[in-house]
Amino acid sequence: MELKIKTKKREEIVDITIQIENLVKKSKLKEGLCLVYVPHATAAITINENYDPAVCEDFLEALRKIAPKGIWKHDKIDGNGDAHIKAAIIGPSEVIPIKNSKLALGRWQGIMFCEFDGPRERRIIINLK
Ligand code: ZN
Repeated sequence: MELKIKTKKREEIVDITIQIENLVKKSKLKEGLCLVYVPHATAAITINENYDPAVCEDFLEALRKIAPKGIWKHDKIDGNGDAHIKAAIIGPSEVIPIKNSKLALGRWQGIMFCEFDGPRERRIIINLK
């Protein structure tokens, strides 16, 4: 299965929990695993709080401190050295257990798509087993 999203900013965190939950519901899978994966080198998937939007802003700010823009060798190629580093730190996937036909997420957890070099159209691959 695949989702497509259009990001609006260079850096953006998009909550995709509801879309993934709907796919799990449709699949009728009671117990199993849900893999969420992005086939991109400057985007990532993470699980974090989706209630207070400041959490996402802090998360992006922390990554900017670790990997500031414009100081990397790769910037000579396409100006996005920082985006590759951020994507590598966060990683391209998460696996969430499915219990009783639902994602076994904690109360404050949401599945977040992380854009580090937008805006552009992105693919998210979902595999349920
Ligand atoms: Zn690049």
